[in-house]
Amino acid sequence: MPSPVSQTLAATPLMHRRAMQSLVMLSAIIMLWTGFRPAFEPANREVPSVSPLPAEEWKTRRYAIASGDSLSRIFSSQGFSQKQMQQIMAADQSLLALDILRPGHILTFELDDNQQLLAMELHIHAGNRILYQRDDNGEFSYQELLNPGEWHSSTLVGTISGSFYQSAKSAGLNDTEIATVQQLFGDRLDFSRDVQAGAHFQVVRSDNYVVTGTSKEATGLSRIEGVRFFNRRQQFTAFLHDNGQYYAANGDSLERAFMRVPLAHRFRISDDFNPRRLHPVTGMVRPHNGTDFAVPTGSAVLAAAEGRVIRVEQHPFAGRYVEIQHHGQYKTRYLHLSKALVHPGQQVTRGQRIALSGATGRVTGAHLHYELHINNRPVDPMRASIPLATAVPADSRDAFIQRITIISKQMEQQALLARQQSDKAEALVN
Ligand SMILES: [Zn+2]
Repeated sequence: MPSPVSQTLAATPLMHRRAMQSLVMLSAIIMLWTGFRPAFEPANREVPSVSPLPAEEWKTRRYAIASGDSLSRIFSSQGFSQKQMQQIMAADQSLLALDILRPGHILTFELDDNQQLLAMELHIHAGNRILYQRDDNGEFSYQELLNPGEWHSSTLVGTISGSFYQSAKSAGLNDTEIATVQQLFGDRLDFSRDVQAGAHFQVVRSDNYVVTGTSKEATGLSRIEGVRFFNRRQQFTAFLHDNGQYYAANGDSLERAFMRVPLAHRFRISDDFNPRRLHPVTGMVRPHNGTDFAVPTGSAVLAAAEGRVIRVEQHPFAGRYVEIQHHGQYKTRYLHLSKALVHPGQQVTRGQRIALSGATGRVTGAHLHYELHINNRPVDPMRASIPLATAVPADSRDAFIQRITIISKQMEQQALLARQQSDKAEALVN
């Protein structure tokens, strides 16, 4: 029977295996099973109860999304009406999962005897499927089928040769993780000027897997649990705490603070976050995944925190909307805008004007619908714990110290292993 370590290695992506072989870069990676719980477990939200149909009534058709596909093109190629697509998009308004279709994701359609759409499933990965189902009144509602899976940590070490980006890439970090490291240390370290050749770094990362039977499928979700960066004689550290925020080893916050309300002036809240809200007309569960502010059209909408714009879209129900990726765990969405003042890919600062509010999409009046997502789950933006740039809370300081001790030990073991490997490689060359 293979050891847990070799089993995990078999599931290591090819890129990592390449990095492992690259002794020239002095980088190595081994996935280790660790005793510590990852800092941040995504919460399973309650989902509306929709009873599945008896299997014999279902006729199934599968469609693999290709690059350049749009929902409208897929629906017409499958012979479904634009009306049905509108109904599905109405159901998706509070999720917006269908707005950006990724190649490789799978759509499964279930038809009734009249070849009409009964249900549609969007398969994002084994841990995240979304089922849109037709109800008795002909409208669709959605249900998220979530499997939180398991988080396995791995330790990556590397030495700077060329740019930090290239060296981190070779060590096995992805673009988002590299951006996270740069953001965490950005205030104190200029990665393009201050980083010296020979500087080195250690990263403990967790990857998410869904286990079904004997197979283990990576969901593509990952997060950085801890980083140490050694440059000249300085050490920079960042550790993820169980409140979802990063702190230096001494407990100082490394987060950019968030604004609770992304507006320049005070406005009345016209509708609260409510994952179990009922539709006023149909009576079906239509989650309200954000907070509504009664703002007149044309009011300035501000970025809640520093980040990068990842979506500027137009949706028949959500209207014009903007989505921002903040460091690591956080995302924000701003809906029903009259005008976007930013474009996808743009870097924004906290408090920057990103849009003008409006009444686009299906609304009863002008307002701003604001969403905060932590670990890809919508949370109540008015109540969630948001980074306020303060130190580790006193009541969880001991737990934090314990975590960083375990993670640091893991880093040291891996750094030692990498040194031994590079010594061996040098001995071979000499
Ligand atoms: Zn709303």
